[in-house]
Amino acid sequence: MPKMTRNTARKIFERLSEASPEPQTELYFKNPFTLVVAVALSAQATDVGVNKATKTLFEIADTPQKMAALGEKKLGDYIKTIGLWRGKAKNVIALSQKIIDDFGGEVPQTREDLETLPGVGRKTANVVMNVAFGQPTIAVDTHIFRVGNRTGLAPGKNPLEVELGLEKIIPDEFMQHAHHWLILHGRYICKARKPECWRCPIVDLCGFKEKVTSPDKPKPAAKKTAPKKKTAPKKKLAGKPKLRATKRKAAS
Ligand code: SF4
Repeated sequence: MPKMTRNTARKIFERLSEASPEPQTELYFKNPFTLVVAVALSAQATDVGVNKATKTLFEIADTPQKMAALGEKKLGDYIKTIGLWRGKAKNVIALSQKIIDDFGGEVPQTREDLETLPGVGRKTANVVMNVAFGQPTIAVDTHIFRVGNRTGLAPGKNPLEVELGLEKIIPDEFMQHAHHWLILHGRYICKARKPECWRCPIVDLCGFKEKVTSPDKPKPAAKKTAPKKKTAPKKKLAGKPKLRATKRKAAS
């Protein structure tokens, strides 16, 4: 795939921004702390599933102090519907306590500090920095990783490579919302199994070769295999008759 130019990248973000001028995270949160919790709970879970659980949880525990007071067991009762809930409950209580002990009860704003919180990695830190504190970070999740590679915007073997590639190619004025545009694009159009290229606003700019141009496009017919060549019949061993003749001679 040829390297994408910054000019093409600019056109891509112009179009994505036209389609959704003020993109928002689809996770429910009330403040920076509840955002940290929501993102930590969303690993390998859907935003819809997390929102169902956090809607009631955040009514009673929307600060680190209230969450720590709730305790691991009671928190578990609220988030049991979310995958890996036991480990997540442990992390949420521990990160609440750390925010109280080390950061005066306020969610830290730098990646370095955020990554010291239990259960918070680079991706979660980037989401919090971007959504809660307005910093132009790119949090590479499964959708952004796929879109970055497929389109040729920022090919990379791992999330960090894609993140750094996107930071290089995305024009500054689009950086703030870029990760939301890419997530929404990946979630609703450039889907994992079957990208909906026939309704994609950047189809002419995308470098993906195997575009799906129609919703009901039949699968390409299986290639006909060439008929097997007939193998030539084995030649009879020239030596056998002679052998028999020799035997007959010997017998006579
Ligand atoms: S054209 Fe297809 S592969 Fe390219 S970004 Fe759009 S949906 Fe994804």
